[in-house]
Amino acid sequence: MDCMPTKTLSEPLQDATQATNPVPAGPTRVGFVSLGCPKNLVDSEVMMGLLQQAGAQLVSGAEDADVIVVNTCSFIASAQQESVNTILEMAKHKTAGRARKLVVAGCLVERFRNDIRQNIPEVDAVVGTGELEAILAAAGVAPAPVVESPFRILQSRAEGDARAAQGRFSRETWNGAIADLPNYLYDEATPRVLATPGHTAYIKIAEGCDHPCTFCIIPQLRGQFRSRRFESVIAEAERLAQLGVREITLIGQDTTCTPSRPMTRFALTSTYPCSMRRRAF
Ligand code: SF4
Repeated sequence: MDCMPTKTLSEPLQDATQATNPVPAGPTRVGFVSLGCPKNLVDSEVMMGLLQQAGAQLVSGAEDADVIVVNTCSFIASAQQESVNTILEMAKHKTAGRARKLVVAGCLVERFRNDIRQNIPEVDAVVGTGELEAILAAAGVAPAPVVESPFRILQSRAEGDARAAQGRFSRETWNGAIADLPNYLYDEATPRVLATPGHTAYIKIAEGCDHPCTFCIIPQLRGQFRSRRFESVIAEAERLAQLGVREITLIGQDTTCTPSRPMTRFALTSTYPCSMRRRAF
């Protein structure tokens, strides 16, 4: 990884489920830095919601946090460099500040899992894009009871399965990439803490991408296309409206590809390559 700093490994880094560094008594204070696209911001909001539901206290300043989470981007080289720079900046709060744990989440983890482990020893745990619920173990916070959604996620579609068979999603050459592609997608029952202004919010209706754009690694970073059921999106929109949200933006890598009922009458007019046609959704 060109942008990864070369540092000597001084202590072993743990998987999210193994992080055990002690944190002070009382609610664990967690601070977030969210980089990249609105999809990543929603991932941060979900992780914050899971943490808050489990009893953690969210703080806005890194200097006040026991645990700092950097949710990273890895789409292009400059985004990777910004992610690494931010991780190193936040690491200073651990080596000379209050922070006891530094967690790296997001796309940079999917692409450079082992490089992060080997080259940034200040990082205590990593959480990939398909492992959002592992943020609780990574932060040392006990999980809250799981609330089941009545609307199951639509996990994949035939086009994606066919492309998978052709190797579209292969990550064999990525050092340390786990075998399973990310397949997580939150639903209307998942807690979220909105990070946008009070009148507006994103709803992620789908995740992943099945398209073959040769320049793009998003499918390897975020997995095959899967989507939420129409009813799940409506349920979340109604809940957000009750909270005072007046503007909702539907997001996903491919917002017009929804196997459920006609989501497209709500969705943005876009088709791939998405990153060239509109904001990096
Ligand atoms: S449609 Fe967008 S996310 Fe999918 S491969 Fe093409 S550019 Fe990447």
